[in-house]
Amino acid sequence: METIEIKPEMFLIESLTQTFGQANQPSPLKTSFQTENFIEDGKDRVLVDISLEGLLKASRPDSGKIVFQPPTFELAGPREKIFWNPENTKVAIVTCGGLAPGLNNVIQNLVTFLSDRYRVKNIYGVPYGYQGFMHDPQTKRFAFGWRRLDPFSVQNIDFEGGSVLGTGRGHSNHVAIVDALMLRDINILFTIGGDGTLAGANEIHEEIKRRKVPITLIGIPKTIDNDVLWVSKTFGFESAVGKAVEALRCAQTEARSAFHGIGLVKIMGRNCGALTATAAVAMNDIDFVLVPEVPIKLEGENGLLDAIVRKVIDKGYITIAVAEGAGQDLFPPSEIEKDASGNIKLKDIGKFLQKKIVDEFKLRNIETTLKYIDPSYMLRSQTTSADDSVFCAKLGQNAVHAAMAGKTGCMIGYAHERFTHVPLASVALSKKRLDTNESIWLSVLASTGQPASWE
Ligand code: ATP
Ligand code: MG
Repeated sequence: METIEIKPEMFLIESLTQTFGQANQPSPLKTSFQTENFIEDGKDRVLVDISLEGLLKASRPDSGKIVFQPPTFELAGPREKIFWNPENTKVAIVTCGGLAPGLNNVIQNLVTFLSDRYRVKNIYGVPYGYQGFMHDPQTKRFAFGWRRLDPFSVQNIDFEGGSVLGTGRGHSNHVAIVDALMLRDINILFTIGGDGTLAGANEIHEEIKRRKVPITLIGIPKTIDNDVLWVSKTFGFESAVGKAVEALRCAQTEARSAFHGIGLVKIMGRNCGALTATAAVAMNDIDFVLVPEVPIKLEGENGLLDAIVRKVIDKGYITIAVAEGAGQDLFPPSEIEKDASGNIKLKDIGKFLQKKIVDEFKLRNIETTLKYIDPSYMLRSQTTSADDSVFCAKLGQNAVHAAMAGKTGCMIGYAHERFTHVPLASVALSKKRLDTNESIWLSVLASTGQPASWE
């Protein structure tokens, strides 16, 4: 995880209970849960850093005693008392950013859990991401119709990839979004999306606070490349790893079957190489793994091209996994292009490497055959693995518990096997990146034998 300065105040959860009054209605879950199954606010918290070193860093002497004040997150889960009255609570759900396997599972879990367990009757799906909130302030007409959702309408949607609500980039005008929420009398908004969506959700939450309107906002993290802070991983990651492994296996088969064969696969991951690294370790016989966090030096004695040529000659064939955000500084500077959400459009490192490698072999008069595979959107548009489906169910349930208890301005986080409430302001601080001193990257170095640095 990227090193950022952890301050205890980053972890203070705000809740509607502080702003609009106490959660004072008995939870409908009391019929199936025992008292000890309910989470107690203030008491049930989860350490952010579970290492002894982290705990010691958070300690200070005070009047002859040692006081521990480690940063913690509130534990997610059912509360004995809820804030919202299910009878007249209106809920909206929106999915933003790119696709990830499991979006439909999360939508389905939110709807069925809200409806069947908490008895909420009014649930709406907002189409095509944040643009689904756009409306004409005069006529109050919305650009897209909102869909009413109930357990029947979400039956079997988990059998398909994508999002039944549609998703989208851009249009994150938080003022217009809060106008829309007020216009439609929404009490609870679930935003499902990646780092951009959650940064947008934080702005919406700030606007809600500024207007002092009773709207609960809960973010649900979605990232197949694992770039969201405070979630060790979330839904879609395992499924995407599975698909990336398939692509690597095909590339390796091609490489192994050719004289001096090279298989090259580009894998999603704009800023974070976690998906590429994990898929490579799963394969165990990948020769080079290139990620955005480790700069690439192409030329020279210890450069990547030389290492590739040597390994092909030694081993007979090689497989390379490259994350889409790797080696961006190898391209000549040019005008920066951005997508609708403001993300920088990446240069194609896969095609670039393909040409550089083939040219290098030609230059040295060594025969080779290179096969390049870019599975691209295939990684994100598939359905979920069983593991991911379980994760989606737990994520959806915890998001509903949080919302019904009146929590707001938080994302459902996941670390050390615990679901937590993470303030959106802490999520919007930065993007998570691969820590090259952590276990998965060390496994990459151990299995490939490639140098820790190309410089
Ligand atoms: P992914 O990167 O996994 O596809 P994402 O949520 O990061 O997901 P984006 O397209 O970057 O996807 O953003 C989704 C939505 O959030 C867009 O509507 C975009 O306008 C909005 N958004 C992105 N970044 C910000 C930001 N810094 N502040 C406010 N809104 C943002
Ligand atoms: Mg993003």
